[in-house]
Amino acid sequence: MHCMLPDYAEHDQAIGLDWYALDPNLSSLLDRHLPDPIDRKFAEEHVAEYGQLVGKVLASRAEVTDAHGPVLNRYDRWGYEIGEVVHHPTWTANKADLIRTGFVGLERLAGRPVPAVVTAARAYLLSQCETAAYCALGMTAGAADIVERYAPPEVRDLLVSRLTSLDPAEAWEGGMFLTERQGGSDVGANTTTAVADGDEWLLFGDKHFCSNVDADVFIVLARPQGAPGGTRGLATFIVPSRRPDGSPNGFTIKRLKPKLGTVGVPTGEVSLDGARGWLAGGDPARASQQAARDGRGINRMMEMVNGSRFGVALMGLGIHRRCFLEAAIYAGRRTQWGQRIDHYPLVRETLVDLLVDLEAGMSVAFECAGALRGAADPDEARLLRRILIPLAKMRCTRVALWAASSALEVFGGNGYMHDWPIARQLRDAQCHTIWEGTENILALDVRRAIRAESAHLALGARVDRALEAAGAHRVLAGAKDVVANLRRDAWQAISMLAQAAEDLALVKARTLAEVLADITEAALLLEEAGGCLAAEGDARKAAVARRFVARKLADRPLRGLLDPDRTVLDLFEPILRYGPVEPGTVAA
Ligand SMILES: Cc1cc2nc3c(=O)[nH]c(=O)nc-3n(C[C@H](O)[C@H](O)[C@H](O)COP(=O)(O)OP(=O)(O)OC[C@H]3O[C@@H](n4cnc5c(N)ncnc54)[C@H](O)[C@@H]3O)c2cc1C
Repeated sequence: MHCMLPDYAEHDQAIGLDWYALDPNLSSLLDRHLPDPIDRKFAEEHVAEYGQLVGKVLASRAEVTDAHGPVLNRYDRWGYEIGEVVHHPTWTANKADLIRTGFVGLERLAGRPVPAVVTAARAYLLSQCETAAYCALGMTAGAADIVERYAPPEVRDLLVSRLTSLDPAEAWEGGMFLTERQGGSDVGANTTTAVADGDEWLLFGDKHFCSNVDADVFIVLARPQGAPGGTRGLATFIVPSRRPDGSPNGFTIKRLKPKLGTVGVPTGEVSLDGARGWLAGGDPARASQQAARDGRGINRMMEMVNGSRFGVALMGLGIHRRCFLEAAIYAGRRTQWGQRIDHYPLVRETLVDLLVDLEAGMSVAFECAGALRGAADPDEARLLRRILIPLAKMRCTRVALWAASSALEVFGGNGYMHDWPIARQLRDAQCHTIWEGTENILALDVRRAIRAESAHLALGARVDRALEAAGAHRVLAGAKDVVANLRRDAWQAISMLAQAAEDLALVKARTLAEVLADITEAALLLEEAGGCLAAEGDARKAAVARRFVARKLADRPLRGLLDPDRTVLDLFEPILRYGPVEPGTVAA
């Protein structure tokens, strides 16, 4: 059992603190998903290191980067196109520290496989200070993965070794170009063309949103000449930004976009004019026919998109956690009417609900990362990830916006100012509901996972197992019943929607995804709560799970106006500071 954390009022601000040590829920999730003590020890070493690095070193630099975004020097003084992006030294220093500590190359650094929950935990910590840096290096990891699996053997090793390098001077970075002027959701409308040139390809076209635009290797969606229209005719290419002699590879950065947030990472508009690259996988000579015949050309890119979507869910969680921590500290230090504002019931409710929703999001995100542990077999784990990734991305990014807005209000007028830390988080959070697929597109993807792959059956089985594992403790009984009833009704609704008119089923897609996310989060929280009750007799997580179920899933007449539940008042300290809770103090 964890010791209760000190009063948040003992701190000035989150920057300078050890963000892992202040987050016992993160270490509990590592315990839960890494039952092997060797893996758990490995996680402790590499995740705890990030709690210090991110909170004490990177976070203050990230604030400076936000005020000094990248600038494109498009031409040199002779007027030649150079396309150089100039960064503030804080951006470069943060990435150098991340590269040295193996943010992308941990497997290489540690000389052993890295459990996905360890990668996720480090990404979650990094996202608390700078989702822009995670964007850059997360795409680098995604590009390395595509290169490793699909690049031609003669270039693969070089590219992988640069993309996973632990030396900032040697390391290359990656990016992904899908979106074009005419649309990002409908990538089937892409017009970028690939023309075969021996075993290689020349790409022509314009890409409209290219983050980490000064990276070195891009995964690019284009249509092989002669392939049909729509997504089936698309294929995935690996395209370096420079040729082996260092000259530009038919690649022009036209401008950097003036963004609302995620300032550090440069997002540009790019022209490809004969950019030379390799087809990701497949027989180069038959790319157009293959793409046309089996529609698998886009799948390589979708593998990267899925990994990135999961990463964006972690970005939402990171922002959520940072906003909670800053708000808890501020509320402990700010007084009004001679009293700390965190003594006022409405502030208590905000802080408790910030944490409850954060723990709900973390349960589903770490379930994605550790799907194999919770699934009956590898196939079920694959289907679980298939449906949980869009659900987690949709849920965690949307809730992060609410969290940032709520935390900002805890700061009152100060929150709106750039000399306090929340305004940037709110700006950054708005990006994450959009990139890698908007909320609507994710809801449609959940529907596709249900219709094409019956992934809801795997999810239903996992929810049932979680409810079973929650056990029979009386403090969980009511909440378990609520979730079990909703689970039954929701899966019946899925069958009914399958028979509904197409437009009606489509208009319900977002609601369906939200209901599935609620049920999954609640069931996983109850499972965690049951584990804590059984192992330690501690009902803190039970209080969290019950609060989540009461707010999100239970029928609440008058929105709970007459509900006598006093959780946010009586259990404020142990919930916020992760202290133990006697089961008897949680109302039956
Ligand atoms: C900061 C930033 C960085 C980015 N970086 C990259 C990058 O590195 N690489 C890259 O390829 N892209 C990048 N993107 C692009 C991003 O992925 C797209 O903006 C996103 O996919 C949405 O596409 P769109 O902007 O064309 O919007 P549209 O597709 O035009 O969508 C507009 C609205 O219509 C809705 N909509 C569209 N179709 C449907 C439908 N069938 N049903 C219901 N609603 C629908 C959408 O949900 C949305 O609300 C970035 C975007 C941002 C903001």
